[in-house]
Amino acid sequence: MFDLVIIGGSAASTAAGIYAARRRLKLKMVCKEFGGEVATSGEILNYPGMTETEGFALTAKFKEHLKYNEVEPEEGVTVTGIVKKGEGNFEVFGRKIDTPVSYQAKAVIVATGVHPRHLGVPGEDVFYGKGVTYCTTCDGPLYKNKKVVTIGGGNSALESALMLAEIASHVTLLNKNDKFKGEQVLIDKVSHSPKIEVLYQAQTKSIAGEQFVKKVIYEDKKSQTEKSVATDGVFVHIGLIPNSDFIPAAVKKTPLGEIEINMKAQTSVPGFFAAGDVTNVPYKQIAIATGQGVTATLSAVEYLNKLTA
Ligand SMILES: Cc1cc2nc3c(=O)[nH]c(=O)nc-3n(C[C@H](O)[C@H](O)[C@H](O)COP(=O)(O)OP(=O)(O)OC[C@H]3O[C@@H](n4cnc5c(N)ncnc54)[C@H](O)[C@@H]3O)c2cc1C
Repeated sequence: MFDLVIIGGSAASTAAGIYAARRRLKLKMVCKEFGGEVATSGEILNYPGMTETEGFALTAKFKEHLKYNEVEPEEGVTVTGIVKKGEGNFEVFGRKIDTPVSYQAKAVIVATGVHPRHLGVPGEDVFYGKGVTYCTTCDGPLYKNKKVVTIGGGNSALESALMLAEIASHVTLLNKNDKFKGEQVLIDKVSHSPKIEVLYQAQTKSIAGEQFVKKVIYEDKKSQTEKSVATDGVFVHIGLIPNSDFIPAAVKKTPLGEIEINMKAQTSVPGFFAAGDVTNVPYKQIAIATGQGVTATLSAVEYLNKLTA
């Protein structure tokens, strides 16, 4: 029986793990892949104490800090369910590749982040990895001097287009609405970039190609006609979905699937805590996720102390 199982291997879980180790909790930390969205964040200029860093470097620092506190996250573990059997008695189960795994714990912290929303149009799955991607930071550099399309209308689509403008020969930004929802500074940069062409009211209908992507077909909602844009790569940035499918029904979630927490990172189920992007915290940022990880562990310690009182 562990005192605490932490699910996740990124900003929130690293902070939670460091605090748990320093409180000498009997701890298990499991994750699909260490690094999470931090690893794919690209350039990071707003994490306090790090004037200028990037995702993989910060991920390595997180791992080093855990190791210093003798925490070894177990990677390759996908958690598929959590059952509360009684007060201070949870079972976390899942699989490591094909092998079923399960852990018993007195308390649980879920810090599983988010994943990109898919378009759900024909061709998207077929050309995934053959030109269709959800990570500009990871795959953008592969499109040097090529023609690319970014799809989306918020900050991450604007950031994607700006990053691609430094690499590709031409960027078409498809926005299904008639304006962007992102920050004005990014909108201004996009509108001043000679390499970025913005198509408003362009609803993606399908993605086509042969061995690799060749074009995106969209409906021009103004003229109600179907048009296409030739491309070598499609970068989809249309929002994020919380990784919370496996959360038990007793734990309250928002209609978007975010785990509802209070200021102490407590969920609706005692002993079950959550932190980071998977929660209903406004503003999904690394510094916020780490702060919540700290809060979750301190609250878990309080819960554990009450169990033994
Ligand atoms: C392109 C991009 C750029 C960004 N730039 C910045 C920036 O400059 N500054 C900033 O502050 N923020 C930035 N962010 C946001 C930042 O990355 C997130 O706020 C942060 O990563 C949230 O951390 P987290 O620990 O909550 O979750 P994540 O980083 O998403 O990590 C989730 C972890 O949970 C694991 N996991 C998921 N599901 C399961 C499961 N079922 N079982 C086991 N493990 C699971 C994953 O493998 C991963 O280890 C950016 C995000 C993106 C996408």
